[in-house]
Amino acid sequence: MLDACHRYFHAAADILGLSDRIRTILITPRRVVKVELVTEGDDGQLHHHLGFRVQHSDSRGPFKGGLRYHPTMDEDHAAALANLMTWKTAIVDVPFGGAKGGINCDPLALSTSELSAVTRAFVDQMQGLIGPALDIPAPDVNTNADVMAWIMDQYSRREGFSPGVVTGKPVHLFGSEGREEATGRGVMYATREALRSRGRELADATVALQGYGNVGSHAARLMAEQGARIVAVADHAGGVHNPAGLDNDALAAWVREHRSVDGFPGAEPFDGKEIVGWDADVLVPAALEDAITIENVDQVRATIVVEAANGPTTPDAGAALRERGVLVVPDILANAGGVTVSYFEWAQNIQQFRWEKERVVAELEKTMVKAYADVEAVARERATDLRTAAFLVGIQRVVQAATSRNALRTPIDLA
Ligand code: NAD
Repeated sequence: MLDACHRYFHAAADILGLSDRIRTILITPRRVVKVELVTEGDDGQLHHHLGFRVQHSDSRGPFKGGLRYHPTMDEDHAAALANLMTWKTAIVDVPFGGAKGGINCDPLALSTSELSAVTRAFVDQMQGLIGPALDIPAPDVNTNADVMAWIMDQYSRREGFSPGVVTGKPVHLFGSEGREEATGRGVMYATREALRSRGRELADATVALQGYGNVGSHAARLMAEQGARIVAVADHAGGVHNPAGLDNDALAAWVREHRSVDGFPGAEPFDGKEIVGWDADVLVPAALEDAITIENVDQVRATIVVEAANGPTTPDAGAALRERGVLVVPDILANAGGVTVSYFEWAQNIQQFRWEKERVVAELEKTMVKAYADVEAVARERATDLRTAAFLVGIQRVVQAATSRNALRTPIDLA
């Protein structure tokens, strides 16, 4: 995945005519941290896990990015996802840089107390490296508001009351209204803007989603609220479909209890792998990376792909989709709603002030619509695709900030 990020970066850097020297400075992470986490399990035995944090760029503000708990989590994943965060925060113009991290573990195999212990050990090992003005983690795959609360608690034990060290906290513990659904809501706005660019509206669109976790479930619900028909959903265990549209409230309740869409009685089952080729106007991959590859890209029937997940389309598959005229809204634009509301949460924490949900929603919509328009304008101007345009917007903003801070050690053009 890191190779794909570098490929996209260089394609945009070629258009901008960036020198090798500047490319090296921009692409190299500031810090790569690997920590050994030894904790005591419920059975009294010692458990050993590896934790990672890659702090890619702080040119535009403190490092910012999620924490992923997954058996495949490693340094390469963290580096790729941190790289994407750098451009993403710039595209929505929030005052953060880019980072990502996580723990190599199977959270489904750990009890709540074991997960808490592993999380707290990670915070202890990251002492001096995370903080409200240094690096601010957030939720990602298999982490949620409870995990963020443990991070805030563990950090505050040493440093004093510090809600701004992490975002995505429970609303009753200095989280922000609207943060939990923010990535999904941003995906809904991005999908709406993409449809509009093709003379369509959510109200007359059908949607198929891969992934029904935080991002996928909220995106589905919010798109359905705008009149879209969610015709199929798949996750790690299976898929369910209903051509008349799935009942999102009932499906979400089922998933809360059973941890998968599989077996949902209100729809017909299918093999989840078929979701990529589902007959729908919009395909939303909202699970993990490499969902659309050169092996299955020919199956795609949607005319719009909205990348709610990070890195769900491989570069070759993306090129094939482009050739076929499929509009791909790239991850660094489509799923930027989460970090946008994370910024609102951090700002509220620092100001010790609370926003009402209406304000969060209105500011998020404004931010996503502007980001989409900025990227679309560059795509039109440069006659390129939305992904390259998104990288162009992100890279240019980072270069501007880094140049002003003299981080690139290049002369400033005062003309
Ligand atoms: P989550 O853990 O809440 O949900 C993940 C979903 O993916 C689940 O439905 C799971 O069953 C499904 N899934 C996992 N493996 C699968 C597989 N092999 N095939 C099909 N489905 C599979 O995670 P999330 O927070 O919803 O994150 C989903 C994606 O969105 C990730 O790529 C993440 O990096 C990205 N993202 C999340 C946020 C956020 O705020 N949570 C923000 C930006 C981007």
